[in-house]
Amino acid sequence: MNKKSCELIADLLPLYADNVCSSESRAVVAEHIAECENCRMQLRKMNCDIKAVPAEDINTIKRIKKRIFIEKLVIIIVSVLFVFGVSYGTLFMLLNTDTTMDYQKYNLAENVWVEQDEKGDVWLVRKALATQAWFIYPDIIDSNGNHIDDEAFSKDNIAAFAYTLKQRAIDSFAISETMIDNEERTHLFNVNDNDKIDTIYYYDDTNEAEYVLWERS
Ligand SMILES: [Zn+2]
Repeated sequence: MNKKSCELIADLLPLYADNVCSSESRAVVAEHIAECENCRMQLRKMNCDIKAVPAEDINTIKRIKKRIFIEKLVIIIVSVLFVFGVSYGTLFMLLNTDTTMDYQKYNLAENVWVEQDEKGDVWLVRKALATQAWFIYPDIIDSNGNHIDDEAFSKDNIAAFAYTLKQRAIDSFAISETMIDNEERTHLFNVNDNDKIDTIYYYDDTNEAEYVLWERS
């Protein structure tokens, strides 16, 4: 080998070692080092230098990898918390959204009634699915048939009460068909303490329908 071509190859060797030279240059270098022991040794040295990465570089790489790992972890945790938050919020909203127990659907004609005992106490009695009501929503009606929320409602002309059974919106999705034999009794008022109330209705406020449960005798 002549010294001149070795000098040329020496310029190309770092590029060759880093694998960044053109394919033409690669071919020239490969052809040369196949025959030139000296340049082959130079290349071997370079490859060794490349493999021996200084310790501080390793630390930098580790630091970068660690930072990427932490960033990924934070993104995952935030995403998981967000999904849980949204799910919890939806469940919370459904659990606290009430809906009227439909008079027809829950067969309330047979399972909800009002009883008056010998002392004059008036009781709302519920059976079967009606006992699953989340709460009993009272509503006052005046003699013109206006409900307490109506603008025309007259406080001085209270004539009737209405009760609406409310259940959690989420219960409607999983309503059980199991009939419950127990009776739930709720004290409403005493006829002697309240002479204004003549009628008690079940008020299906979704369908705006009233069903008479009790009338003063
Ligand atoms: Zn050479």
